[in-house]
Amino acid sequence: MKTILKTTITIKEICNGFVYNELEGKGLFGLSGKLTIQPEYQRNYIYAEENREAGVIESVLKEYPIGLIYFNKVGKDTFEVLDGQQRVTSLGRFITDKFAIKDENGMPQIFGNMAKDKQNKILETKLLIYECEGTESQIKEWFKTINIAGVPLNNQELLNAVYSGPFVTKAKEEFSNSQNANIQKWSAYVSGSANRQKFLECALDWVSKGNIGDYMSKHRKDKNIDELKKYFNTVIDWISSVFTDVESEMCGLEWGRLYEEHHTKKFNPAKVSAEVRKLYGDFFVKDKKGIFEYILGGNNDTKLLNIRIFDEPTKRAVYEKQTREAETKKKSNCSLCAVGHDANKDKIWSFGEMEADHVSAWSKGGATSTKNCEMLCRTHNRAKGNR
Ligand SMILES: [Zn+2]
Repeated sequence: MKTILKTTITIKEICNGFVYNELEGKGLFGLSGKLTIQPEYQRNYIYAEENREAGVIESVLKEYPIGLIYFNKVGKDTFEVLDGQQRVTSLGRFITDKFAIKDENGMPQIFGNMAKDKQNKILETKLLIYECEGTESQIKEWFKTINIAGVPLNNQELLNAVYSGPFVTKAKEEFSNSQNANIQKWSAYVSGSANRQKFLECALDWVSKGNIGDYMSKHRKDKNIDELKKYFNTVIDWISSVFTDVESEMCGLEWGRLYEEHHTKKFNPAKVSAEVRKLYGDFFVKDKKGIFEYILGGNNDTKLLNIRIFDEPTKRAVYEKQTREAETKKKSNCSLCAVGHDANKDKIWSFGEMEADHVSAWSKGGATSTKNCEMLCRTHNRAKGNR
């Protein structure tokens, strides 16, 4: 990889021909059109807080360094901002009067109303710019190294950088655009923000069954995202047809996997809805997020619900009663040991060696009260399974 440090490029030159897209919140071009500020692989403009934007300008006025900026040389005389896009956008936005900073008296002041000498001070400030030329894998490595300042790129943002091209462009139009009216509907099931590529990541994860990098590499040159879009919408439609009520715990579940595992089964939405409501109202269900997979799997795997167990006083009381009775009968205080024929048939287990079991399993309607509690030796309790 080749790098050249440039120390003579001024803010004026960088911001020459600066174009800002208000709708997308992106700085687009600079350096008289030779510089792409927001290339494909860059995240959306995250430097949104005003004080951070103002901080860039104040640093320049105080002659503080604003850090290294990296350009990626993409053509003979054309560049993309590899790192520093947010700072360059802040500079461009200020010079085009898009926001104000506070003057010495705390009054907001836009660039156009500043004294000429101050304006010139900003315009003539030279930035430290590394011009780099490298291969795809070098750039990927590099991204990891240079993202030490500001908001670090997350995994999907890195992948978008590495596999930039028509496919990523289209995919971002669909899944990373917070203006897309569908985002709100999708956010019932997908967590995270569109800007930080969480919806795109989810769509790719589902269609690729978890192999996002491979999928992006294979489809990099595709001119359309039909498969990605179709699969994502199919999963979303499936969720909303099986579960007619939207619960907050549905957000961020592994819906792609659940779809693959269960979409060929038939579900009665009215019945499912009644089951969901029943489980939501059940005090013993600790894990509400598990309700959906539990129902999809045919109400068998109670582990998903993390059922509340008996409290300590209940277990103690039941243990004392069982043990007293067992001692009278000269049998084991574990009822399953007592009916057996091995050495444990008259063994009195200590409290610590026993576990509580529902006499009538929770999944079959058993309550978690003293009456429904039985202490069993650990071996027998674990063998019983369904709790
Ligand atoms: Zn036993």
